[in-house]
Amino acid sequence: MPTPLKKIIIITAASGSGKTSIVKHLLKKNSEQLDFSISCATRQKRNNEADGMDYYFISPDEFKEKITKNEFVEWEMVYEGKYYGTLKTELERIWGKNKTPLLDIDVKGALAIQQQFPKETLSIFIAPPSIAELKKRLEARGTETPESLATRVHKAADEIIFQPHFTTTIINDDLQKAGSEAEELVRNFLQIRAN
Ligand code: 5GP
Repeated sequence: MPTPLKKIIIITAASGSGKTSIVKHLLKKNSEQLDFSISCATRQKRNNEADGMDYYFISPDEFKEKITKNEFVEWEMVYEGKYYGTLKTELERIWGKNKTPLLDIDVKGALAIQQQFPKETLSIFIAPPSIAELKKRLEARGTETPESLATRVHKAADEIIFQPHFTTTIINDDLQKAGSEAEELVRNFLQIRAN
């Protein structure tokens, strides 16, 4: 009997590309097979978020201790002074339920996971139709100051360069279409068995 492959699915993107909506869509459509990988983060919890659901919100000191103890499969300082990381125990928790972890992480974290689990990982890069469109979306979201908007747009332009390193890209010009494309990719990937 072949042992089941411990798979990983990553949704990554330049910020403002609509990846969170796609992650939510996939979790809704595949609740039997997928489970959201809850990351550790040192930023403030937002009003609509819950600790242990959206993130494990921890202090910078706790985060550093986990780095020292080698508890992360990957971690990054995604924004100035704000740390995010995927715990090894989180992947094990989900595999232990015979499910596949779905990760919503930045491009560098995605590359790090892909390097460690090349055969097991499906990585989907969500690209905005253009940088101009991305800027428009971030402005419409109304959560950015002129400075943070400029930082995010700059970061997004840098992140798009990494696109060829991922398994596949979805251009998010229509959220419904992008969601269906992601669903199809995930369905096919989950059917692959270990030899
Ligand atoms: P936000 O603060 O808006 O929730 O997330 C900021 C960024 O951090 C997003 O691009 C998100 O995908 C990324 N992120 C969330 N968790 C992790 C993680 O565990 N590792 C890495 N590398 N990035 C993460």
